[in-house]
Amino acid sequence: MNKYLREYKNNINKLVKKSFPSLKKEKIIVSEFPRIIFWASGFVLPIPKFNLIFIKTSIRKRNNLIKNAILAHEISHIEIIKKKNKNIFALLFWGLCVGISWIFGKNPARENERKADLLTIKKGYGKELLLIVLNRKRKMSSRRLALVYKRGYLSPEEIKFFMKKYKQR
Ligand SMILES: [Zn+2]
Repeated sequence: MNKYLREYKNNINKLVKKSFPSLKKEKIIVSEFPRIIFWASGFVLPIPKFNLIFIKTSIRKRNNLIKNAILAHEISHIEIIKKKNKNIFALLFWGLCVGISWIFGKNPARENERKADLLTIKKGYGKELLLIVLNRKRKMSSRRLALVYKRGYLSPEEIKFFMKKYKQR
């Protein structure tokens, strides 16, 4: 385990303790993937006995707030998945459907990203999420940005709207 993975693991433990108490007993393993998929900073693979979070290697040099927002988004996915799928068969079937629709950018995956962003805000990490999104807006061409929003991720305006709605920072 390199020092970045140790840092992620530490932060995941803190986030779970503080904001995701229902996941205290879940085994969460964190790993990295190279910069091949532009729209994802990270993704989750829920396997029956444990959960794998993958973080893009280029995230290493980002600041702590942004890293935490990415981790909180991924942990939100895990909480949603665990609530939704009470048994292994439901989990595997769900994983297959969302996985396929994620590859093709179709609706179940889109809903899934939206829900994870919303839960991230509800859990109190709206400010951090907003940082990622504003940063993305500065760096990406409008064509690329449109693709990101098409995948369900919230825009800065939507994040601000929901932060107000949930009455946070
Ligand atoms: Zn996601």
